[in-house]
Amino acid sequence: MMPEFQEYSGCIHVHSIYSDGSGTIPEIIKAAQGARLDYLMISDHMTLRARDEGYTGWHDDLFVSVGYELNDQADQHHYLAFGLDQVLPPGYDHEQYIQAVKSRGALGIAAHPFEERDMSRSVVGFPPIPWGNLDYPEIEVIEIWNMMSHWLELTTGWNKYWNVVHPRSFSTFPSRRLLSWWDKANLERKVVGVGSVDVHAIKVKLLKIYTKAIFDYKIMFKSLRTHLLCDAELNKETSPSVTETAIFDIIRSGRTFVSNFRWGDATGFRFWAEDERQQLQMGEAGILAKPVIRAVLPKKGHCRLIRNGEVIQKGKTTTIEIPVEPGVYRLEVLQRKRGWIYSNHIKILEKK
Ligand SMILES: [Zn+2]
Ligand SMILES: [Zn+2]
Repeated sequence: MMPEFQEYSGCIHVHSIYSDGSGTIPEIIKAAQGARLDYLMISDHMTLRARDEGYTGWHDDLFVSVGYELNDQADQHHYLAFGLDQVLPPGYDHEQYIQAVKSRGALGIAAHPFEERDMSRSVVGFPPIPWGNLDYPEIEVIEIWNMMSHWLELTTGWNKYWNVVHPRSFSTFPSRRLLSWWDKANLERKVVGVGSVDVHAIKVKLLKIYTKAIFDYKIMFKSLRTHLLCDAELNKETSPSVTETAIFDIIRSGRTFVSNFRWGDATGFRFWAEDERQQLQMGEAGILAKPVIRAVLPKKGHCRLIRNGEVIQKGKTTTIEIPVEPGVYRLEVLQRKRGWIYSNHIKILEKK
């Protein structure tokens, strides 16, 4: 039977004028409502000012969580922290802040962990900011696809005009290098993947005129979304911290998937494993008697079923039902040869 969940789709990693973004918080909230997001996770660099000003909570049908983006003294190891009421004391290195975020029960997300850029062709003068090493057990969640860093990686002097005018259409896939690290890591421990927009809505000068803003907030909110599959509806009557906890718990659990809205609304996508008695959802591990992998898609797409990092089946379809061996599974769905949906992993264990 198809699992029943309350689905919420939203955007993670947003910058405002409180750091290096161009929009005010009310403008950003309005853009997110216009894009019909269910939730929004704002993360300015090194400040919780929007939280201090009381923006955490419901804004009509949009839930806003305010966290912040940490970096170390050398501006490396960018890390999103959500659920902290105060910024951490200054001077922490990344090993200290990933511990501190975890010990305070907050949600940490390693930002653009595999960012790369060919500096000889790049349109920007600053180098990429990857995480050299992600093998910290406290890192439970990573960005598997970051719209901004992906754009910076692919934009050169040759295509900048096209990429500025069509900021979503260049987007292809998450980094192969990252996905292969992610699949390998999940053989050993659970590492959840989310999508992020990392939107700043920077105004750029093009052909001597300032364009409105590349990565306009509303346009970016129609790109990479992270869908949460919750057991129950988020209750608007409870305090914001209760809703935040529910959202963070689902993200940590891995019952989420990433989609690029540019290629269609992925709401309704489901991916699970089952036998006659029980189901395993994304993010879960367990033993199944005669495991079957199943998926339902909101529209036809090119599916690639991945087991332990290798593609084992592919084809264009709207439903999947495949008997499988134990292993760690995830599903990718392409649309017009572009990445559309990326599930989290399901781990089917060997019988003892
Ligand atoms: Zn960053
Ligand atoms: Zn950022």
